[in-house]
Amino acid sequence: MKSFNTPMGELRVKVFGHASVLFEIQGKKIYADPYSEIHDFAGEAPADLILITHNHYDHYDERAFSRIETPDTDFIVSGNVGQVDGRYTVLANDQFCTWEGIGIIAVESYNINRRNPSGQLFHPKGVGNGYVLDFDGFKVYLAGDTEPIPEMKELPKIDLAFLPKNLPYTMTDEEFLKAANLIRPKYLYAYHYFEIDVPALRAGLDPGIELMN
Ligand code: ZN
Ligand code: ZN
Repeated sequence: MKSFNTPMGELRVKVFGHASVLFEIQGKKIYADPYSEIHDFAGEAPADLILITHNHYDHYDERAFSRIETPDTDFIVSGNVGQVDGRYTVLANDQFCTWEGIGIIAVESYNINRRNPSGQLFHPKGVGNGYVLDFDGFKVYLAGDTEPIPEMKELPKIDLAFLPKNLPYTMTDEEFLKAANLIRPKYLYAYHYFEIDVPALRAGLDPGIELMN
């Protein structure tokens, strides 16, 4: 558990592995892409909000939801997850909402080059979401499964970023560093990786970006 100061108070962050992250602020618990194969969520606190980047099984995992979901849990999801029982808030790229005073913007998250053996992009443009969470000015960027994309240049100033790193679905180490140095967050986590060489990544980052892994 790491903690960051924001204008809304202390933001506590717990990284479970793969793309699963918990944010706690003002007593509210926000889970991003909880995935039961990397963590047993049975011991975790109930979710006030579950945020889903896209519909792949390692991001949209009902078994993980069943451990943390209550009748009061809100869901904010991508278009390719879609509506369930009228309960979900579905955001397309560039749409936003406010949840408990936190601004949530859905942003682009997609592949440009990486395809499956039948030639389809793993993550086509326009169907999955990254998110920018705005804690009254302290901005957190969850990139989702993406390569470095031109839209990263248009992001607002990011304080804390989560960028994916693994092949064949997301980025090489070089692409991860390219994306990080373009976005220039103050704090950075690599996520969604199978292996990681923290000293090598740290050496490739521009000054002022702190790798938290
Ligand atoms: Zn995916
Ligand atoms: Zn994934």
